[in-house]
Amino acid sequence: MAIVTIERKVLEKNDELAEQNRELFRKSATFVINLVSSPGSGKTSLLEKTIESLKGKIKIAVIEGDVQTDLDAQRVAKFDVPVVQLVTNGGCHLDAKLVQDAVSRLELDGVNLLVIENVGNLVCPAGYDLGEAMKVVVASTTEGDDKPLKYPAMFRNASVLIINKIDLLPYLNCNLAELKKNALQINPNLAVFEVSCTTGSGIKEWSDWLFART
Ligand code: MG
Ligand code: ZN
Repeated sequence: MAIVTIERKVLEKNDELAEQNRELFRKSATFVINLVSSPGSGKTSLLEKTIESLKGKIKIAVIEGDVQTDLDAQRVAKFDVPVVQLVTNGGCHLDAKLVQDAVSRLELDGVNLLVIENVGNLVCPAGYDLGEAMKVVVASTTEGDDKPLKYPAMFRNASVLIINKIDLLPYLNCNLAELKKNALQINPNLAVFEVSCTTGSGIKEWSDWLFART
């Protein structure tokens, strides 16, 4: 029982810091998304495509969360957007304090969109508010159609579901209708986009939707 209490205290403290972050984002009029998924779903590829699609229209900044390496931050930096890398050294999620530290190294004034790419993990990032406007969960077709049933908290707490790698559907044992049904059964309010970062399909629809919120 003691463990439950400690965990609750950690989350209470996190929520407090997340509210501070949210206030900061509100002041700079920055729309913030928290990009979550399991490892290898294509969060960074989606981010690259989204930046490409929105560049010149709005100002974007990125916080990259990774367990090790700054490889993803290097990929994003090529697009000439401000990026701060957070390395968790084994930690399996970002928290509001880490994001606060990263934000202190960014100039938020004039930034319309801040994308926080979380550590690849569908479990604890669901419980950690970072101060974002919404969580965007990426599920790729290569992971099958049962992810929402296995990780319901993440799908319940997200506002958007991006189904990635739809170009691979003919080769996979993944039922797209089933995947959507499973997700919407857990969270009927999810906005769903079907994309392929390889062919570019669906990227415009998603980017337009995001642009309308900034
Ligand atoms: Mg990544
Ligand atoms: Zn964790």
